Amino acid sequence: MAEIIPTLEPAASSRASCRGCGEKIAKGELRLGARLPNPYGDGEMTLWFHLVCGAYKMPEPYLEAARSTTQTIDNAQWLESEANRGLEHRRLPRLNGADRAPSGRARCRSCKETIEKNAWRISLVYYDAEVGRFEPSGFIHPKCAQDYFGTKGIIDRLKHFAPSLIAEDVDEIQKELDG
Ligand SMILES: [Zn+2]
Ligand SMILES: [Zn+2]
Repeated sequence: MAEIIPTLEPAASSRASCRGCGEKIAKGELRLGARLPNPYGDGEMTLWFHLVCGAYKMPEPYLEAARSTTQTIDNAQWLESEANRGLEHRRLPRLNGADRAPSGRARCRSCKETIEKNAWRISLVYYDAEVGRFEPSGFIHPKCAQDYFGTKGIIDRLKHFAPSLIAEDVDEIQKELDG
């Protein structure tokens, strides 16, 4: 795996999109940068993340950067504890949101059963170090979260990466998480 050199620095412009959630990072906002050799050519490239997205999806680089920075991090303790949960539960950083299955074709990565059409599913990604990108990596049932992630305490993370969910949706998913 290509070595990542993490940094924390305020965004110099508002042009970069977060690799964790896809949204823009506001100018001046403290952000996580993961510098790595450019897989497409010479030199280096930097992946940028909102701090919360970095703590969720890139826990090791986040913690390394947070430990060595001189910048003041808002909610530093909470971010650190979330990043540490991602190290404790190695699959947790794969969580990428939730939606309703548009068809009944996909199988749950945990129990291998089909995820029924219109049923809630949790979407997964994995970080592909070869190309410096997160790639889609299938789905699991909410009820399988405990088995798959080793924890079902995932609703805040899930809401963060699925901001279009309404309160009723979140309640339904929470019920399925609780089994
Ligand atoms: Zn983000
Ligand atoms: Zn399942």
